[in-house]
Amino acid sequence: RCTRVAGMELTELLRVAERVKAIDIALGIPAADPPAPVVDAAVAALRAGRHQYADPAGLPELRAALAAGLRRTHGIDVDPATELTITCGATEALFATLLAVTDPGDEVVVVQPCYESYVGMVELVGAVPVVVGLRTDGWRLDPADLAAAVSARTRAIILNTPHNPTGRVFDAAEVGGVLRLCRERGLVCVTDEVYDHYVFDGARHRSPLSLPGGREHVVLAGSLSKTLNATGWRIGFCVADPATTSAIRRVHERTTIGTNRPMQHGAAALALDSLGDNRSWVQQQRDLMVDRLTAMGFAVFRPEGGWFLMADTRPLGVPAGALCRDLVERAGVLVAPGETFFAEGGEDRWLRMTFVRDPAATRDALDRIERFLADRTG
Ligand code: PMP
Repeated sequence: RCTRVAGMELTELLRVAERVKAIDIALGIPAADPPAPVVDAAVAALRAGRHQYADPAGLPELRAALAAGLRRTHGIDVDPATELTITCGATEALFATLLAVTDPGDEVVVVQPCYESYVGMVELVGAVPVVVGLRTDGWRLDPADLAAAVSARTRAIILNTPHNPTGRVFDAAEVGGVLRLCRERGLVCVTDEVYDHYVFDGARHRSPLSLPGGREHVVLAGSLSKTLNATGWRIGFCVADPATTSAIRRVHERTTIGTNRPMQHGAAALALDSLGDNRSWVQQQRDLMVDRLTAMGFAVFRPEGGWFLMADTRPLGVPAGALCRDLVERAGVLVAPGETFFAEGGEDRWLRMTFVRDPAATRDALDRIERFLADRTG
């Protein structure tokens, strides 16, 4: 969608970043490794010869561990036999869900700014994306805006909380409003909760699946990419009622059969409630980044969760695309142009940055941005 940044092809921008060895604070690639017991269990599975297909629905012990974790951490009761499927990342969970629940020509409501894959996914399954914006002052989701976008052709709404790219953790009124609309209009609420373990300052993650009436209307996509700091393992999961699960599994079996088995053995050693340390480190780095960017003159919404923030360049009086390009070419820092996260009508004022990269590199990147801005004005 956003293919050009300040007149430069996005692919060219990435090539320049590669050539100048820019510090990348654009992509959500965590500095930390997965927990040692998880890595040890994956290695042990390889050594024990666990090389062949697993149950396509996912390794039973991993499904059991995830179901227990969902109950303990979010109060969600899931039957791992009939309601939980292990997928190749949340990406496959979302795609298989969209294929399973929509017919060609159906409309799917997407909230923007949003994770850049949603709109393409909706189009790829033959459905039609209908875009609803968050309110840019505080990134609030107004259920009335969503209701206005629903038509007789609408089949699903995609919700993402904690939210990429803004860092919002939608509150009870927002999440409840989306679910109420889905119940009233007979829609599927596809909820992407890959950052559910990254919620800061004592805020609470709220899943529409945990609300009354959620079970009949919600399909939840989750991921161990984020929870385990293992984006390359490609392990995600999908929770849905048994009938929807069997449709999703039909898609899953015809597309991937299942994700790799040894890493599922590793992931089965996860203990979701022991991940607090990871969260506090990420929260500290969030604060450092928000405070320093604010001091430089950006307007920054302090993320309530997730891995990313949006910095508004408007108070600096520079368009975001041009600044993004300058930062790569002249300061050696790669940030993501905010336009990438808008399907339509995005203003040229946002930069997305991540606070999960290596702390020393992140500090270096912030120093470079600060120097660049000071040289520019001085
Ligand atoms: N949803 C969101 C909101 C994301 O930010 C990402 C990854 N950046 C994904 C889904 C994809 O997750 P996975 O690696 O599990 O496919």
